[in-house]
Amino acid sequence: MHAGLTGKAALVCAASRGLGKAAARGLAAEGASVAICARSQEPLEAAAEEIRAETGAVVLALVADVSRQADVVRVVDETVRRLGRLDILVTNSGGPKAGLFGAISDADWRDAVDLVLLSAVRLCSEAVPHMRRVGGGRIVHITSVSAKQPIPGLMLSNALRPAVTGFAKTLAAELARDNILVNCVAPGYTRTERVVALAQAAAAREGAALDTIQARNIQEIPLGRMAEPEDIADAIVFLASERSRSITGTTLAVDGGYLRGLL
Ligand code: NAD
Repeated sequence: MHAGLTGKAALVCAASRGLGKAAARGLAAEGASVAICARSQEPLEAAAEEIRAETGAVVLALVADVSRQADVVRVVDETVRRLGRLDILVTNSGGPKAGLFGAISDADWRDAVDLVLLSAVRLCSEAVPHMRRVGGGRIVHITSVSAKQPIPGLMLSNALRPAVTGFAKTLAAELARDNILVNCVAPGYTRTERVVALAQAAAAREGAALDTIQARNIQEIPLGRMAEPEDIADAIVFLASERSRSITGTTLAVDGGYLRGLL
């Protein structure tokens, strides 16, 4: 597939590892210049260097916590100042705290709203004027299958991923005439450190072995395996590319068939 990303500039958030890093690598491999952000300098620099070495692309490493408005403003500003433009925004963050309703405090709810919902909203607020200036753009939100089907024990994700999806759908209609396309990619179980940590939490909660929990998770996937981060990245690159020019306001699940609903 020719993605048509040469000369484009992308900001990929929460990208020192996992899905964000894979998305940044995928966009860089297709010729985009990429800014990546995460909270800790060292792993972020290491990820940037790895992607530069693999792809030869320009990769900026910008330390930022996407749950803080001031960091969001600075990171978008610096991306545009140093890359000269902004065409593609991939919103992403660490996952919200896992747990049942009774174990989640008021502060946890507020933190999760900042981390999951307001990070996406604020990133779009800052990025959209720059996209308008270059005649269009692509926004891809990394959400979760929990946007469509709640996952037991993930109250915060189940409540807030649908909020991001509703925001994205509404924004897609508002920005369509600006040629700014807005979509979500909803990963299912994908082999990252986050997923291993969630399986460990479930094992501790249920007093079960880690292997048992992981085998149970995989059993629910018709393809019979977890996705790899690159599988999610491929969907993001497609939605960021010229080839997706008629797709906006949709959610693309990359889940090995996990979701049982029709839509
Ligand atoms: P991960 O924990 O492996 O990586 C998260 C990345 O986000 C890291 O680079 C971390 O440094 C960065 N990060 C965390 N909090 C941040 C913050 N406040 N500001 C900036 N950077 C921050 O996670 P992952 O598996 O790559 O998942 C990414 C997102 O996708 C998460 O929100 C997760 O809930 C969601 N998701 C993952 C899966 C999966 O199976 N891996 C499935 C569905 C949804």
